[in-house]
Amino acid sequence: MNLKDSLSFFFFGVSCLACGGSSRKLDPWLCSNCKEELIACGEHPIWPGKEDAICLFPMNSLTRSLVLAMKYKGMQKIASYLVAHSSVGRKGEALQILESWGKNMLFLPVPVHSARKRERGYNQSEQAALELSLACGGKLCTNILKRRIYKPSQTLLGSNERSLNVAGAFEAKKEEKLLQKSMVIVDDVYTTGATTSSCARALRRAGFENVKVCSLLYELPVSAVADRAADISVGWKTETQNFSILLP
Ligand SMILES: [Zn+2]
Repeated sequence: MNLKDSLSFFFFGVSCLACGGSSRKLDPWLCSNCKEELIACGEHPIWPGKEDAICLFPMNSLTRSLVLAMKYKGMQKIASYLVAHSSVGRKGEALQILESWGKNMLFLPVPVHSARKRERGYNQSEQAALELSLACGGKLCTNILKRRIYKPSQTLLGSNERSLNVAGAFEAKKEEKLLQKSMVIVDDVYTTGATTSSCARALRRAGFENVKVCSLLYELPVSAVADRAADISVGWKTETQNFSILLP
């Protein structure tokens, strides 16, 4: 922290990422009220209509603030923060579900194209997968699932268009010694499930039978379309402004 930041922190504290309130006791991004709200909305995982997929939080104004910071402000550790405050990290219902899926699970982040990773500097799903593997006693696995081709954002597309957009976008390497393992595909936001379904198909084609999905957030497809404009706006601002939020 430089002198200017230190003085600012001394006099004003820092702003809660969700409600904007000033505090010197953020942990490190949320005030105590917003942290309580986050824990409450992550108490029960969401089943987005498929038996083999769970999401840890609903998308709402609070979680959206965290996701936007995670994607566009370089705060990849928010993925770990979300897992830690979900019912996986708090050893609740979601952890029991994950444990019921198998032992020694492998957690596979949805791969991003190398161009996108260069642009952002990290893959937030990989950070989430690492944190989930630590919470469940499994392992992070990044060398099985690969993205073959770059596809533009899915957000403006409907359910069928999304499926077509990511059809064949992923491939999986066959590893005989891992075929009996439980594979958990990890994504940041689950909307229609088109991306994770495409990953699951690639894994099944390679011979993996026990394939599950765990996503940080569940967003209703209809609200995802409306939020695209906000996402674009924040992404653009990120490149043109210096954010004053203090990184841990
Ligand atoms: Zn707050």
